[in-house]
Amino acid sequence: MNRSSLFALVGALLIGAAQPALAQESVLNLYSSRHYQTDEVLYANFTKATGIRINRIDGKEDELIQRIRREGAASPADVFITVDAANLQAADEAGLFAPVRSKAIEQRIPKQFRGEDNRWFGFSYRARVIAYNKAKINANDVQNYADLASPKLKGKLCVRSGGHVYNRTLMASTIYNTGDENALDWARGIVANLARAPKGGDTDQIRAVAAGECDVAISNHYYYARLMASDKPADQEVVQKVGIVFPDQKGKGTHVNISGGGMLKNAPNKAAAVKFLEYLASDEAQAYFANGNNEWPVVASAKLDNKQLDALGKFKVDQLPAGVLAQYTPKAQRFIDRAGWK
Ligand code: FE
Repeated sequence: MNRSSLFALVGALLIGAAQPALAQESVLNLYSSRHYQTDEVLYANFTKATGIRINRIDGKEDELIQRIRREGAASPADVFITVDAANLQAADEAGLFAPVRSKAIEQRIPKQFRGEDNRWFGFSYRARVIAYNKAKINANDVQNYADLASPKLKGKLCVRSGGHVYNRTLMASTIYNTGDENALDWARGIVANLARAPKGGDTDQIRAVAAGECDVAISNHYYYARLMASDKPADQEVVQKVGIVFPDQKGKGTHVNISGGGMLKNAPNKAAAVKFLEYLASDEAQAYFANGNNEWPVVASAKLDNKQLDALGKFKVDQLPAGVLAQYTPKAQRFIDRAGWK
């Protein structure tokens, strides 16, 4: 150890001894349903910058929400991070989040990506896109979400279960944008067009399009981006065969959802929680957070170095606020059930 680092160490120890109040801020308990390699770097950088150590509990979103509820007032959880506005809404409806008053966050994260009363925040966004077989489908026929319900595509569509949050939130945006009646008709049209009963995740739908099991699918964009980045010949073949459309470019824009999180009502380390959320809104953290899952940062000034996203290009985003979207998800689920979208 050289002299200056020894001084730094002794200094740090003295500060720690003289100001025990700091100990309350030195830890952050993070409950997360995200697990990407880049997140590790993100957390390490946060600790480096603030001295706040992160204890992470990983789990599935529903399990973590249940756990925080069960722990109640004694919960050690400071921040909960998950994907999809519907999951954030579920946590919010369970009364788990506390509003965060931070000028820095409010200035950086557009209102569209913040929950009601700043009780949660989106930190990156993903698009729900249309994947189509380039040899079998004219791209002009699949430019809009509405096209997916057209009788033209009867027996040609693959999509995962209607009850999955990605489809529930897409349904919520359809209700908001087109009204109850049209939205229910749309869901019925989707079901009428299915090539097979819904099964698997979004990647399975894209692969099914390439394999000829169906001609069109609905997927989050990053599953396609992952295939683009893959060096497996089979994945490259899928990318060759399957094209991507950002829907509704001449209308309201493509439906986007978020990855995000918020501070918990019973957080024992509230100051650390706010610091962490502010950090996630910084340019540096935004790049890591978004890149980890090939998503776009919500902060406009954040610079992303991502070949796949560059190749997909820019698109018009539906400006529907994530908070409003989230409020429509219970109705969306009722419509999905009524349409028989299993
Ligand atoms: Fe996903």
